[in-house]
Amino acid sequence: MSFTCNVCGCSTSGRVLVRGDGVKVLFCSRCDMGVIENIPEDTSVFYEDTYYGASGAEEVGYHDYEFTADHSLLWVRLAIEALYPSGRVLDIGCANGHLLRSLSGDYQRFGIEVNATAADVARQRGVDIVGSDVFDAALSEGRVGRFEVITSIATFEHVNDFKAAFEVSLGLLADEGVMIFEVPLLSDTRDNKDWLNASYEHVFYPTVRGLEELFKQFPDYRFMGFESEIAGYSSTYIGVAARHPEAFERVGTLFEAMVLASPLGLPAQEASINLAYNVVHSFNVTADRILALPALIERANSVNLTKRLAQLWHADRVAAENSLNERANAVWYAQQAANWEAAWGELNRDYDDLRKTNALLFEQTQQRSD
Ligand SMILES: [Zn+2]
Repeated sequence: MSFTCNVCGCSTSGRVLVRGDGVKVLFCSRCDMGVIENIPEDTSVFYEDTYYGASGAEEVGYHDYEFTADHSLLWVRLAIEALYPSGRVLDIGCANGHLLRSLSGDYQRFGIEVNATAADVARQRGVDIVGSDVFDAALSEGRVGRFEVITSIATFEHVNDFKAAFEVSLGLLADEGVMIFEVPLLSDTRDNKDWLNASYEHVFYPTVRGLEELFKQFPDYRFMGFESEIAGYSSTYIGVAARHPEAFERVGTLFEAMVLASPLGLPAQEASINLAYNVVHSFNVTADRILALPALIERANSVNLTKRLAQLWHADRVAAENSLNERANAVWYAQQAANWEAAWGELNRDYDDLRKTNALLFEQTQQRSD
């Protein structure tokens, strides 16, 4: 078994994890980047039409793509609109063009999509499909222009050359362009069940250390990112890259606002990104964030947003009701314990009385027999 780390080139693997389907994930002994044992030559076979609207729970992919896309991509949409109110946007792995179509502004919308049916739908929605994947010859031959914004949400883990996919994508950025990406993260502290027991089409298993090593391979670019903790779900890593210091600073400021503990006091645009990310995407709801929700609804109201908020509210309410029941149970058990204690005390007193009577009787018997 030969191993060469895609990121740092090291030739020894360290720890090994085994996925639910039995496939081994090997981690580089030096940088801890993870990859499946046998990298497939062609990964497009994973993305047949069922991937985007799979009906059986055991099938890979997204069940209700539009709804999922609406709540997992809303923060991306709002971040793009805040960074560049107009310009050329490329979405790598654009599926049916959902994210690009949702952008409100004067944009030129470009996409890369491996699934022909999804790509056709995106085209009908006004997306210029420039390739089937990042390694498409049309991109490497420079026939495609440079982009102010490139997004790659949940796509790089699917390719068979992670580092090269980054390299090609960064090369497509305009001088002041920014790339926003999200990949699954094998967390050091949180449960990785969703990555190890599902999503068997993934090839790469990034870790924070592996990604930091990757960033070092591109010294002309600045990177920042963080572990994104989606409540009840395994972690992802959200990152940005830019070459130009000013562009990097702008996106850095935006990301800081996005993860702030409280959106209260933020300008409306930043507050809505904070809410789209924390409430709608990650379900990390706080009292402040609920109070600020009208800022998001004003900007991005839709039936799917209402559906998502109702879903989250319901989950929270169920948890609250469960804890109320638990509290009622605890009160009942406390009362039972007190009842038993009282009964025990009474028994003890009766026992003491009996003992005293017994002792007295014994004494009297002794006296008589003397
Ligand atoms: Zn490595």
